[in-house]
Amino acid sequence: MVTAMRPPQKPGKQFDQLRATALFCPTCRQATPVRQRLLLFLPDGELHEYLCQYCGTSVGTRKVREQADFRLLVH
Ligand SMILES: [Zn+2]
Repeated sequence: MVTAMRPPQKPGKQFDQLRATALFCPTCRQATPVRQRLLLFLPDGELHEYLCQYCGTSVGTRKVREQADFRLLVH
């Protein structure tokens, strides 16, 4: 029997992007679950906005850079 060397599998493989699941909402005055939406396109990425799921208040934005292979299409 030959024991094959296997690379260690990391359980957190799906967490490539950091997700904010709860942010402080000034209207609700507590940390609330948020939904993410695309706010606008930037020359070097996208700007996403986080909205409170309870009252819809914008509680923050996050800039997401474009993927490298997608950038090859933009000169
Ligand atoms: Zn709220």
